Amino acid sequence: MSIKLPELPYDKAALGPYISAKTLEFHYVKHHAGYVKKLNGLVKGTPLAEETLENIIKKTAKDASQSAIFNNAAQVWNHSFYWQGMKKGGGGIPSGAIVDKIKADFGGYDKFIEEFKKAGLGQFGSGWAWLVVKDGKLAVMKTSNADTPIAHGIKPLLTIDVWEHAYYLDYQNKRGDYIDAYVKNLINWDFVNKLLK
Ligand code: MN
Repeated sequence: MSIKLPELPYDKAALGPYISAKTLEFHYVKHHAGYVKKLNGLVKGTPLAEETLENIIKKTAKDASQSAIFNNAAQVWNHSFYWQGMKKGGGGIPSGAIVDKIKADFGGYDKFIEEFKKAGLGQFGSGWAWLVVKDGKLAVMKTSNADTPIAHGIKPLLTIDVWEHAYYLDYQNKRGDYIDAYVKNLINWDFVNKLLK
């Protein structure tokens, strides 16, 4: 068994102009595919080669000697999750079950966006900002480099990649503009609602 690169859920031009086809081409074909290739090379011939991606992440998360495997496995998972959380014509005010949950746990959509943006901007260096369910409540968190909520037993609902490779071609150093464009135009709330069930 080897870990497969999942197909993108849309055409590479689908998220333009907010995320260009050029960014998606590099991000998916070079970065995401690269993590898959490296991971398969690292686990080849070891017992981890028989495990699912989620199990590889959980089994290597707390072992510093396995950090290369963890980093590549978590990056494979995080990117697959990131793609699913976006769609053409997404973003803006959500509908569905997430609406009441956001109101109850953040005090409203604007408060959630404020926290989410703060997490994305406040992540020093590479990493991810997340909407998660923690102890039955929605929460915002950020992780460094490859780290992922699933390594900590926390259920993610949505993520934005804030590594420079995610936005530099389109926004250069303006990470805040990328986060704004993502929030207003790309979030796939249907995906979030499906996970919330
Ligand atoms: Mn990335």
